[in-house]
Amino acid sequence: MSAPRLEIDLQKIHHNARTLVERLAVLNISVTGITKATLGSPEIAKTLLDAGVSALGDSRIENIKRMREAGVDAPIMLVRSPMLSQIDQVVMHADISFNTELDVINALSSAAQKAGRTHGVVLMVELGDLREGIMPEDVGSIVRKILKLPNIEFKGIGTNLACRSGVSPDAKNMGKLSVLADSIDATFDLEMEIVSGGNSGNLGWALSGEDTGRINNLRLGESILLGLDPLHREPIDGLHNDAFKLIAEVIEAKTKPSQPWGKIAQTAFGLPPPITNQGDISQVLLALGEQDTDPDGLTPPPGIEILGASSDHLILNAKENRLAIGDEIAFQMKYSALVRAMTSPFIVKIMKI
Ligand SMILES: *Cc1c(COP(=O)(O)O)cnc(C)c1O
Repeated sequence: MSAPRLEIDLQKIHHNARTLVERLAVLNISVTGITKATLGSPEIAKTLLDAGVSALGDSRIENIKRMREAGVDAPIMLVRSPMLSQIDQVVMHADISFNTELDVINALSSAAQKAGRTHGVVLMVELGDLREGIMPEDVGSIVRKILKLPNIEFKGIGTNLACRSGVSPDAKNMGKLSVLADSIDATFDLEMEIVSGGNSGNLGWALSGEDTGRINNLRLGESILLGLDPLHREPIDGLHNDAFKLIAEVIEAKTKPSQPWGKIAQTAFGLPPPITNQGDISQVLLALGEQDTDPDGLTPPPGIEILGASSDHLILNAKENRLAIGDEIAFQMKYSALVRAMTSPFIVKIMKI
């Protein structure tokens, strides 16, 4: 079989999605399945919908278009603020987008009128992680303006934590979002449909037994795909962590010294890594590199150590393992490795049903 390749177990993804959907359903929290790490894979999108997610979300309109073209007709949200240069496509392919700028929402309104469509808007609120979001005290005045815009439907509010700064969801910041939802509903005499508390980093909080208040939606990517809680990258109870496996092929296997020799300058990717002298080792090269994945996000099989990587080579210490040219090694993946492998044209994707 061709290598490098990504083997994707759709049943494991289905199990993870279904389990999280069920755990959250008892709290009246729906799940938006986030597909961005999969390059908008239609097969994975269909698996998530089959497992009971109420909608799909992606950060890239190109991925959303790909899913639409493959016949995915579920509600899809664009979870990154739309670019003005892509407004027409956003209105065409996404039902809802997440927004923080009035200029963009005005443009969505014009584009939606032109296309004869209605576009849903969720306003993202800044609660401390300092990525996207409107400062809480400014949300009301923006709602007032967008309620007047033709072909725009105000759907609700959301927030995103644990991404740029690693701020954890807790009773305080989630409580703030609930209070804001109540106050906007009261001010404008409405009942907003969506209060989206955040991403996979919110699961620990949501399932802790604490009052989840007005939060009725989470947007889950990593937890479904890899079964990990991103706050501490710990496995989530009852989920699979190996739905994705990256397989690469051995192209050199030699006994070599562990220490380089000669005058040391920079490497292909900056400063050389610190090397401990282990004497002679079984050094193995795989045809896999920075162009294919994030080597730091790979977990090798037991008894094998990753020593380094360049654009096209992964260097291993095979220790006691006898590896021959043409042998294959399978890695478990962290999010960074998954995102890059899914988006690399060099990696063949193989779906196991
Ligand atoms: C990527 C993303 C998510 C999903 O994050 P995970 O940690 O993979 O669950 C949710 N919301 C937004 C806005 C995102 O950009």
